[in-house]
Amino acid sequence: MSVLDLARPEIRAMQPYSSARMEASGGKVFLNANESPWASNEDDLGCNRYPDPQPAALIDALAALYGVQREQLLVGRGSDEAIDLLVRAFCRAGEDAILIQPPTFGMYAVCAHIQNAAVIEVALAADFTLDVDAVLAAVTPAVKLVFICSPNNPTGQTVPRAAVERLVQALAGRAVLVVDEAYVEFAEAGSVADLIGQYDNLAILRTLSKAWALAGARVGTLLAHADVIALLRRIMPPYPLPLPCVAAALAALSAPSVAAEHIAVIDEQRGVMRAALARVAGVREVLPSQANFLAVRFDDAGAVYQRLLAAGIVVRDVRRYPNLADALRITIGTPAENARVLAILQGGAA
Ligand code: PMP
Repeated sequence: MSVLDLARPEIRAMQPYSSARMEASGGKVFLNANESPWASNEDDLGCNRYPDPQPAALIDALAALYGVQREQLLVGRGSDEAIDLLVRAFCRAGEDAILIQPPTFGMYAVCAHIQNAAVIEVALAADFTLDVDAVLAAVTPAVKLVFICSPNNPTGQTVPRAAVERLVQALAGRAVLVVDEAYVEFAEAGSVADLIGQYDNLAILRTLSKAWALAGARVGTLLAHADVIALLRRIMPPYPLPLPCVAAALAALSAPSVAAEHIAVIDEQRGVMRAALARVAGVREVLPSQANFLAVRFDDAGAVYQRLLAAGIVVRDVRRYPNLADALRITIGTPAENARVLAILQGGAA
């Protein structure tokens, strides 16, 4: 059985859009895409032309970075787009389901709702670790995608590699395991991307939005079996990557030491902040985190949120999530920004 047997049959059968850019190889004069022949004012990127749907230089750089083959990789508008594509390709509206472990990133459920796919929830344990047996027990024939987030947003813990392997093996022929590694560059344990070649029902989400400082460029990558990548390309809008975004991504990827330095500062500051916050009056608990944020429980999280806001500091109110009704999620900023947060919480100058 192929992983494609899990996908929506109508997606496999449909005729995909063939963009002008895809049929253009070898040309010198391009009169096939109704573009303007002139560059717009001060444009040196060639934005009068449609971009390459999957730019070769970017694909090469990301394949090297993540250690996969080019055919095992799809680049799009953030990992958000990959989540959406997966749900639309694998879940039949009104029939199929995804499985998530709350509290977790909100877009898995939102994409499922848009597609009218059901959302089965298996809550993380009280310490926010993943219960593999509970997840597997909840997998019905309707479940086509099982999402795990490692490190998990908003709690920060990672899923052990052994748990990923157990899950992907147990789900073979039944569902695709999607491992969201948006924050993995900040985690000691590292990525499980090396497993991509071993399992056709494994998909991994990576992004340049966090560790690579490119949230505004919207460049996210899906790693998966080449058949899954080819399937998703059938339903992806024709030109997902604007030329300025590709240029920004290539520039960042050509200077990896910059990202590495920033990651080291974030990891160090995370330790500093965790220790300092734990000593602040009114703090109940600072959850251990392997990401670039800390989930912090307070006696009165609402009041803390307002106090920070009054000082111009916006943190994430995560009290709507199960088991986090007293918590805020605080991103690790520059050392100066973090010191400011601490000063305010310690009752010092705002
Ligand atoms: N996954 C997780 C766990 C996230 O927290 C986020 C962004 N907050 C994303 C995916 C989406 O990231 P992007 O679309 O910027 O790649």
